[in-house]
Amino acid sequence: MSTTPHPSSSASPGSATLWLQPSRERSLTRRHPWIFSGGVARVEGAPAPGHTVLVRGADGTQLGWAAYSPASQIRARMWTFAADDTVDDSFVAARVAAAAARRSLLLSSGLTDSARLVFSEADGVPGLIADRYGDTVVCQLTTAGAEAWREVLADALFALPGVACVYERSDADVREREGLAPRVGLLRGSPPATDLVAHESGHRFAVDVAGGHKTGFYLDQRDGRAAVAAVAAGRRVLNVFSYTGAFSVIAAACGASSLLSIDSSGPALAVAARNASLNAVDVGELMEADAFTALRGLRDRAQQYDLILLDPPKLANTERQLDKATRAYKDLNLLAVKLLAPGGVLLTWSCSGAMSMDLFQKVVAGAALDAKRDVRIIGRLHQPSDHPVPLAFPEAEYLKGLVLQAD
Ligand code: SAH
Repeated sequence: MSTTPHPSSSASPGSATLWLQPSRERSLTRRHPWIFSGGVARVEGAPAPGHTVLVRGADGTQLGWAAYSPASQIRARMWTFAADDTVDDSFVAARVAAAAARRSLLLSSGLTDSARLVFSEADGVPGLIADRYGDTVVCQLTTAGAEAWREVLADALFALPGVACVYERSDADVREREGLAPRVGLLRGSPPATDLVAHESGHRFAVDVAGGHKTGFYLDQRDGRAAVAAVAAGRRVLNVFSYTGAFSVIAAACGASSLLSIDSSGPALAVAARNASLNAVDVGELMEADAFTALRGLRDRAQQYDLILLDPPKLANTERQLDKATRAYKDLNLLAVKLLAPGGVLLTWSCSGAMSMDLFQKVVAGAALDAKRDVRIIGRLHQPSDHPVPLAFPEAEYLKGLVLQAD
């Protein structure tokens, strides 16, 4: 373990205290981990960003310990609801180890060697995302709290069995909200292999640790990939927002009759071509284009597909962006439904946490109505088991999808 001093090591009861406004302790007593700026009455002891603070209700009750984020609207995130816990190196390292241990269900199943090991608040480590691809762990530190524990977190990840490399991809936009600059680079061990591959269900997917989106691969679409495998045989497939073509590889391997993948990122499509050869499949046409424009073009040419995959990027980052995002989701789904051949299947997703499954379903229903098609839900898709949703923290749920079939 690192012996580097950090702000939290010195946190002893009373060293810094965050006092809540009256009655704002209610969500904490239900074990919800966020304290919003509006719920804070005052902060004593001038804690540094990321410092561990004692949280007290307005009546002085000790409610637990939290990581302080002075720049964020989420002013503090709970480490523990037990005031007699000590948040120190071994506490934080144990949280990481426990989260990783929970993934052994998945990682020892033989299905895959790649999984999200730590999913931030959902695993009791606010601000840490850690994805494992074989012997390589790629992490993102997204909050002042996680940043303060960087060395301990890096050690804890590197100490996991079989880990040879811990690489940091702390370049997500959310860091700005915490007043943190981007940080990218090797944290522990040897540099990540340039030909790093995630193995899943007998398929191989190239992971671009340094240059790819997020941590390099969309682990969160594992259940989506299984859903594609189940319906692709013999179908004309359109994969919109294909990224590195994982769905296309699966569809090709499962006997799709034709394939078109669309993405605005040339580098992502170059990896898609590599994934095709890694899996010895032909993924057909890779089109670098704006999806909205390309879909309109296909509609104007009266193209038809038997299976359409629609997995746009996060269109709503906040509740405030929801209106605009709703229109974009509706446009995309309207175009997709119009392109469905009779009996065609559409797998459509939203990864915007601000959009509920209920709202998403309403938006898609509106699209089907406008397209004048009768469409049935034949399945629902969610983020997979390594992206868990604590009952006390439903905000962890972000990825939702519908499996639809048109008349
Ligand atoms: N389905 C993919 C993940 C999609 S992520 C998988 O399972 O791996 C969203 C993708 O949308 C990214 O690859 C991004 O490059 C692409 N994208 C974002 N805006 C776009 C646009 N306007 N048109 C086309 N692609 C876009």
